Amino acid sequence: MKTSASNPMNKAHSSPRCLARTRRGTLCQCPALRGRTRCKLHGGKTQGGGAPVGNKNRLVHGRHSRAHREAMALIRQFQRAARDCLDPG
Ligand SMILES: [Zn+2]
Repeated sequence: MKTSASNPMNKAHSSPRCLARTRRGTLCQCPALRGRTRCKLHGGKTQGGGAPVGNKNRLVHGRHSRAHREAMALIRQFQRAARDCLDPG
């Protein structure tokens, strides 16, 4: 390949490269966004974390918490005892 100092593509090719790892295990090597270390495909535009603000996937409702499970076990125990009182046979 012919390289010369007057070729404007020399500057473009010498720009910082994205160092994200691809699915093949190689480095992405697309041009990184200005002032960033990643390209537009690998989170170069994000300001902080990649997750959206107020992520509802992380919602904790407490249905499977230890306190709730113990309360439900106690309720079932009372139900069993009440059933046995009403119908001893
Ligand atoms: Zn990339």
